[in-house]
Amino acid sequence: MQLIQNYVNGKIVGPQSDAYLDNFEPATGEVYSQIADSDERDVDLAVEAAKAAFPAWSATSAEERFAVLMRLCGLIERDLEDLARAESRDNGKPVTLARTIDIPRAIANFHFYATAAMHLSNESYDTVGRNAINYTLRQPLGVVGCISPWNLPLYLFTWKIAPAIAAGCTVVAKPSEVTPMTAFMLSKLCIEAGLPPGVLNIVHGLGPKVGSAIVAHRDTKAISFTGGTRTGEEIARVAAPMFKKLSLELGGKNPNIIFADCNYDEMLATTIHSSFSNQGEICLCGSRIFVERPIYERFKKDFVTRVAALKVGDPSDWSTDVGAIVSKQHFDKIMSYIELAKTEGGTILTGGSEPGAIATGPRCTSGYFIQPTVVEGLPFDCRTNQEEIFGPVVTVMPFDTEDEVLGYANSVRYGLSATLWTEDLSRAHRMAASLEAGIVWINCWLLRDLRTPFGGVKDSGMGREGGFEALRFFTEEKNVCVRI
Ligand code: NDP
Repeated sequence: MQLIQNYVNGKIVGPQSDAYLDNFEPATGEVYSQIADSDERDVDLAVEAAKAAFPAWSATSAEERFAVLMRLCGLIERDLEDLARAESRDNGKPVTLARTIDIPRAIANFHFYATAAMHLSNESYDTVGRNAINYTLRQPLGVVGCISPWNLPLYLFTWKIAPAIAAGCTVVAKPSEVTPMTAFMLSKLCIEAGLPPGVLNIVHGLGPKVGSAIVAHRDTKAISFTGGTRTGEEIARVAAPMFKKLSLELGGKNPNIIFADCNYDEMLATTIHSSFSNQGEICLCGSRIFVERPIYERFKKDFVTRVAALKVGDPSDWSTDVGAIVSKQHFDKIMSYIELAKTEGGTILTGGSEPGAIATGPRCTSGYFIQPTVVEGLPFDCRTNQEEIFGPVVTVMPFDTEDEVLGYANSVRYGLSATLWTEDLSRAHRMAASLEAGIVWINCWLLRDLRTPFGGVKDSGMGREGGFEALRFFTEEKNVCVRI
């Protein structure tokens, strides 16, 4: 059985414990590989390697960093098909999605930050009248920790490590223990690309063991984390008193607000994606759909018909729309929310049935599949509408006025993203300013420009990723004042 091992100081190595955890294929429910069950001893070794590599790496020119990161891009591109198949197998997502979104985005992340590092500039102030010039130096922080979740494994892992490395930091990173495969494959590509030993170190294993050791280590200067809000709270509790820089990208419960004057066909097609792409396991999915009353019944009928026609099944099949839920534990959580929705008085318009009801084919009879589920008839403030489910479950609700729907949208503890469908320009801008969210999409969804700031408000996190913001996060500014 394949062993997924750590990448420390430029080498693939086993964990100090010699212990391994089972890695499951969500589509079959079977163990298909084993992952290093690392602990703080492995983190210590990784931090030592990163510390040793830092002086030389931070002294390389932006052009040298660009060259090695672009070589890595080329290798990921070369292995795109293998990486896409591996991502699909490890996570349960349709291979089509991994091939068109996840792996191309990992390439784009390296490409973007390899280039961006060459354009990062410092500030300079001519302090007129006092015979001085002030300028700033932006210096890489040192060793930083990057911790990522399972929903977009290589995509989010590289979204952190690319700016960190490009900024001149050295990294100790932990992918989710649930989806470690593509990060392991990446470590081999780093060796092939000639990334100097210790610049990137990947330690596999459990969050409370490996993740918390990275956070608590006195030599990690910053933590860039994407994951659940509860884990984010725990990380902040440990790291804040140590005065580490923190970037926390956390959970969401995003509203999708549809006005009667929208471009209906485009809205309908996009709302299918924004609800159920990646089995609804994207932090930016719109899980609460508010529809203006004049088109509510029409939307409900059309939406439910389209959702019921989505093909749920083997992620390795190119024609599958909705694959398997990432793990048995997460499957149970989502199913418990479908039960909760019923208890709270919701009506299931489609989906929600027992796994046996889905024809997934013989290979996948024990896989973790859930039909895309649409629930109606719940109040905005019930638990189903307030808590993050992070699966293929959405609720639909009618509304009458702008103020009313703003109240619904902003009623949750989260504030990651919001989607708005209207052809009324004034209303679009008015609503965008009032929605409590880090990102508002108007007449589109998941249209990403990597230069833009990405992050949430309220309990969806702190800090912004993307653009120069991420390079600034991994550097410290120093002011130098020169008397002339
Ligand atoms: P978790 O918070 O459970 O895990 C995220 C990562 O943190 C994993 O690598 C995990 O390891 C690790 N971890 C767990 N406990 C600790 C700890 N005590 N200290 C340090 N690290 C720890 O999130 P999920 O993986 O379940 O991801 C789903 C969540 O991520 C959802 O809430 C979703 O909204 C959010 N998310 C947010 C995004 C954003 O951009 N805002 C984007 C994508 C997802 P292990 O896997 O071993 O437990």
